[in-house]
Amino acid sequence: AKESGRGCLRRFDPEMEQRLRLRQSLEADLRGALARGEFEVHYQPIVDLAGARVVCCEALLRWRPHGRGLVPPGSFISVLEEIGLIGLVGAWVLRTACADAALWPEGVRVAVNVSSAQFEGDALVGVVEAALRESGLPACRLDLEITEAVILNDDAAIFATLHRIRKMGVRVALDDFGTGYSSLSYLRRFPLDKLKIDRSFVSGLDGSHAATSIVQAIVTLARSLDLRTIAEGVETQDQLDRLCRLGCDEVQGYLFSAPRPNAELPAMLHRIDGA
Ligand code: C2E
Ligand code: CA
Ligand code: CA
Ligand code: CA
Repeated sequence: AKESGRGCLRRFDPEMEQRLRLRQSLEADLRGALARGEFEVHYQPIVDLAGARVVCCEALLRWRPHGRGLVPPGSFISVLEEIGLIGLVGAWVLRTACADAALWPEGVRVAVNVSSAQFEGDALVGVVEAALRESGLPACRLDLEITEAVILNDDAAIFATLHRIRKMGVRVALDDFGTGYSSLSYLRRFPLDKLKIDRSFVSGLDGSHAATSIVQAIVTLARSLDLRTIAEGVETQDQLDRLCRLGCDEVQGYLFSAPRPNAELPAMLHRIDGA
């Protein structure tokens, strides 16, 4: 009866079974990806509005499975987190980004995304120290981008880790700001340097008064807390003009450049800074 029951399930839900099989092969592919050298780090410029030049590049992970095209992280970062590989891959991203950035012009920092899972345990401080030491990149040229999931844990150990990282001279940005649930009191207590305004508010700027009010409120809040603001996902000149008027400090988006491989960075900087 069990047998036929299983057979029944199979017949009834072939889609679910196919999803499960896809997921298992994705996991298997991801487990070997680091050793096979299939990961790449691409960089997207962040432009300072006052100086009209590139002051930072965000490191964004890409996966190129053998024989296939480039895979963006939306579909695999969460899997890396679930199978416990984000620590290893995250450390590789940090080392790679610091090594690349050490050869960039001195005025250009690098920003690296750190998953909340990387704050579990006490490895992160050592990983950051090692990446800086091996690359020779000064700490003041590294930013870490964390999400609200990190600070929502409200954990004394995480608080201490962030303090130690900032004491080295590394700056910390709160990513995707406005999409989560962080209360204003968290913002005041947590050791942060920057707020990144989520793309959903930036893309709303064209038509929506609500989005304009939200961005205005974030900029005002950030100023009162002495935090810099970075708007992500800027795609149009109109959005850029509005962000300028609203007093945003830095901008990032396809209007300037999509994320590109490190080899293309000199040309990208030349094009943007020279414009
Ligand atoms: P994020 O940190 O919010 O990164 C910004 C995302 O917006 C990137 O997607 C970037 O390519 C995209 N983007 C930039 N400008 C524009 C624009 O003008 N229009 C539109 N439509 N999109 C734009 P990407 O590279 O696919 O990364 C997705 C997310 O994956 C990131 O979101 C970040 O949360 C995560 N991620 C990427 N690399 C890493 C990493 O090394 N470690 C960790 N933990 N997470 C990463
Ligand atoms: Ca980010
Ligand atoms: Ca972001
Ligand atoms: Ca985002």
